[in-house]
Amino acid sequence: LVVGGDGRHFNREVIATVIRMAAANGFGRLVIGQGGILSTPAASHLIRKRKAFGGLILSASHNPGGPDGDFGIKYNTGNGGPAPEKITEAIYARTQSIDRYLIADSAPIDLDRVGEIPLEGRNGAITVEIVDCVADYAELMQTLFDFGRIRAAIKAGLTMRFDAMSAVTGPYAHAILEGMLGFPEGTVINGEPLPDFGGHHPDPNLVHCAHLLELAMSPDAPDLCAASDGDGDRNLIIGKKRFVTPSDSLAILAANARLAPGYATGLKGVARSMPTSQAVDRVAQKLGIPCFETPTGWKFFGNLLDAGLISLCGEESAGTGSDHVREKDGLWAVLLWLDIIAARRQGVAEIVQEHWRDYGRNYYARHDYEEIAVDGANALMKRLREMLPTLAGRKFGALLVKQADDFAYHDPVDGSTSQAQGVRILLDDGSRIVFRLSGTGTAGATLRIYIERYEPDPQRHGLETGEALKDLIALAGELADVEGHTGREQPSVIT
Ligand code: ZN
Repeated sequence: LVVGGDGRHFNREVIATVIRMAAANGFGRLVIGQGGILSTPAASHLIRKRKAFGGLILSASHNPGGPDGDFGIKYNTGNGGPAPEKITEAIYARTQSIDRYLIADSAPIDLDRVGEIPLEGRNGAITVEIVDCVADYAELMQTLFDFGRIRAAIKAGLTMRFDAMSAVTGPYAHAILEGMLGFPEGTVINGEPLPDFGGHHPDPNLVHCAHLLELAMSPDAPDLCAASDGDGDRNLIIGKKRFVTPSDSLAILAANARLAPGYATGLKGVARSMPTSQAVDRVAQKLGIPCFETPTGWKFFGNLLDAGLISLCGEESAGTGSDHVREKDGLWAVLLWLDIIAARRQGVAEIVQEHWRDYGRNYYARHDYEEIAVDGANALMKRLREMLPTLAGRKFGALLVKQADDFAYHDPVDGSTSQAQGVRILLDDGSRIVFRLSGTGTAGATLRIYIERYEPDPQRHGLETGEALKDLIALAGELADVEGHTGREQPSVIT
């Protein structure tokens, strides 16, 4: 069993309990990151590399930590990916009937010292192995990227700032970016994992990383500003005066992946979650490879990766990954960007501009209406679903609806079907509006509207996003009667 977490409050205490329970339940070997630290992608890699039965990852991703913050325990299976629903449901069912549990009486183990410690377990002696939390992951990264080329680019003046947000990527970023690649000390900020993340909300978006955006827009902006989240699986990429949306990032990484040694033979296919912009679809089309559109959630990508159908995948919520692990991977995305920058000898803004020139630009925004009344939210979706059969072929001003449906996904690997994943309204010019509900809990529902406009003309690639999407936003509001159903004139958050 592989065990590690993002270092938040309770990390060490829970690992101590995991060790005693694993010993009592017959595990033969535990592999634990030094100090109890393992990023989510590093844990996924260790599970695969050591052919472990599975792994426990202690994290609540990008949610705040500390005594009053969040904590979570995640189970990953032997393929390195999140446990599929049939396993989590079986675990849940078992929790309903537990009448005892086994726990060994062993002495506490020093998590900070690398080495093997014997422990008395149910089936005799077991071994607790404390491993360097970075080494295996760093070794994997060296097989994927041309570290020599990136080092040379840094010597020639390439600069960056990486914010580890006092969460798990600190040790990885210090060791790889500053140690192995040679970025000067100070390139990594907030590089020590703290139990309360230093009070940060470790979510790599433009709200919680406003300081990075400000730096990137300033006269002394580094070539690349980047950040990752609490457990290290998500990423933020900002070039000089150019924020890269996660959807664009996925498309650009797919278009340029062959420049990196790990992907030199080309991509087998790509996948994106349904709400993610269709920018990557155009890349796949040009490369002549399949592009899968899946429901939200990494497990759908996991099936495609395991079956060898795709090499790269990503989500609009800033998760990008590849077949090197079975989780999204924040630092991996940053390293791929660095390798592409080094190979092309161009800045982020130039790379983005040329991508739009070659493929067209997918203007994109997500409007979140948070904590709205559940009844209104459900009524809104019902109205849209009832409207679906009448929409195809209808014209709204200059906008012509080509297709309208409630997204369903047939998993080509396990044959399962996921229904009602969100309402899609596809326009004939490649633009799109998507409506989804999430979190229908006590605090109300969240309505997410994803608005995307496809613009092939390079003369019109310099528009402000809100301006470019104006007509589509108005159409979304009108079709769903957003104001009437939510009582809100404006979304709570626009990303
Ligand atoms: Zn995360």
